[in-house]
Amino acid sequence: NSSFSALDFIPLDPHYTLKKLYSADNYEKKVILGSGIYRDDNSKPWVLPTVKKAEEIIDNAQDSGRYEYLPITGYAPFHNAARELLFGSLGEKANQFVSVHTLAGTGANSLGAQFLKESLSPSAVWVSGPTWVNHYNIWGLVGVEVKTYPYWSASKKGLDLEKMIHTLETDASAGDVIVLHACAHNPTGLDPTKEQWKKIADVCERKKLFPFFDCAYLGFASGDLDEDAWAVRHFFSRGTLELAVAQSFSKNMGLYGERVGAFHLYTASPDAASKAHGHISHLQRGSVSTPPTRGAKIAATILTSPDLFQEWLLDLQEMTSRIKNMRKALRDNLVSLGTPGNWDHICSQIGMFSYTGLTPEQVATVQADSHVYILKSGRISIAGLTSSNVRYVAEAMDAAVR
Ligand code: PMP
Repeated sequence: NSSFSALDFIPLDPHYTLKKLYSADNYEKKVILGSGIYRDDNSKPWVLPTVKKAEEIIDNAQDSGRYEYLPITGYAPFHNAARELLFGSLGEKANQFVSVHTLAGTGANSLGAQFLKESLSPSAVWVSGPTWVNHYNIWGLVGVEVKTYPYWSASKKGLDLEKMIHTLETDASAGDVIVLHACAHNPTGLDPTKEQWKKIADVCERKKLFPFFDCAYLGFASGDLDEDAWAVRHFFSRGTLELAVAQSFSKNMGLYGERVGAFHLYTASPDAASKAHGHISHLQRGSVSTPPTRGAKIAATILTSPDLFQEWLLDLQEMTSRIKNMRKALRDNLVSLGTPGNWDHICSQIGMFSYTGLTPEQVATVQADSHVYILKSGRISIAGLTSSNVRYVAEAMDAAVR
């Protein structure tokens, strides 16, 4: 008799379930459009050429200290450069920040959730409907109630800003946390316009909500790092809001398994930043002690070398332009097949994903009849499409919606 036999059953995250089913399928033309992982046009993982160069530099240095522990807050050249990428050069204002190197974006979300729960005691955290499923997990684990603000309108295939603002105005309480996707919203591929972002910042100010940006796709929305950082910079530049950012380099440097990320907190005073630094370090010490070295050194090498940085921009462009081409190819194929409905949203959406509008029944049909694996929500990862499978996927979708 085990002490654990009374545990209830927790199902696998839908992404992992989908992957398992896909792996067990022997059909030759099977396609998976699940997780947000970049693949090249041969469906293969892609190590960025810039990352290879940075690895060579690190390995050639043969630094005997390369496997030593980092400080609790991680590799400073990395988290400082990561912060500059988001906020630009900060001068004196840097004293009002706490930046910590974390276990990728998930680690940054998690550390942020622990710290904001401890310091703000929010009555709730507000996430977009829909959002990245792990937001529910992460905030649930720290014991903060997760509430949803309206975001995606299925009928408009667009943002429901009025409903979003109205819900926050009427139902959110001062001190609540609001999670915002900095760019390339997962799962919808739909970002607010600059005018809409200003209205969202207005409501955060009026209602005293604490903005926590999740920034997992910097560079993947517009292909331009500064443009993609616009929302974060706008909130920051108003000078009236304190805020936090969970930043990931999993996608934009292809460093998925290396777990490279940062948590940044901007406070209204250097004194507050110094106190927050102690609390955040305490939480990090109790959970991971210190973060791992290699990925952060790769990222820092790229971010701090002017030449490698320029080359990285080209790598980013290669990934984003392939994704844009695949969006167009999928839409054009659906149009040429005369597939019922309008498919323009596939091209207007940005980042790695498209919220296709396929219903759960249609998703089940493409899986059962054509071996195309898509999450129940109808979200597809465009990076899973290639010149050789895009027609097949369009045909599968066409058959399912008729
Ligand atoms: N936030 C969002 C919205 C994401 O989509 C992801 C990746 N799927 C992450 C955070 C974190 O990813 P990672 O921990 O691999 O950096």
